Amino acid sequence: MKRMRSYVCEACGYIYDPARGEPKNGIPPGTAFEDLPKDYTCPVCGKAKIGKTAFNPLDAPSGRYRCIACGYVYDPERGEPKNGIKPDTAFEDLPDTYVCPVCGVYAKIGKSAFVPTE
Ligand SMILES: [Zn+2]
Ligand SMILES: [Zn+2]
Repeated sequence: MKRMRSYVCEACGYIYDPARGEPKNGIPPGTAFEDLPKDYTCPVCGKAKIGKTAFNPLDAPSGRYRCIACGYVYDPERGEPKNGIKPDTAFEDLPDTYVCPVCGVYAKIGKSAFVPTE
């Protein structure tokens, strides 16, 4: 399943979290922001007709990690199918034996050499 983005209301800071939805407002959990009805309004300041256009994607952590030795970036959305790592595998879920596909073969550059990145 693709990770859904949270959106923040620029008027009041309310955050729409797709994992939670807004059951009180008839929006079931798991509803992507993109799938909200056109007339969706912010539940906090919606009386002022603050609609979807006032929402911006929340810059959630990208989930990407960069190898400090060679600059290789592990992208969880892509995974490394060649190495048996399926798309949508979070870096945290990689096996402890994971090594950088670029420089790990020679230098045993493992997970500890990776830092979070944008
Ligand atoms: Zn708002
Ligand atoms: Zn590397």
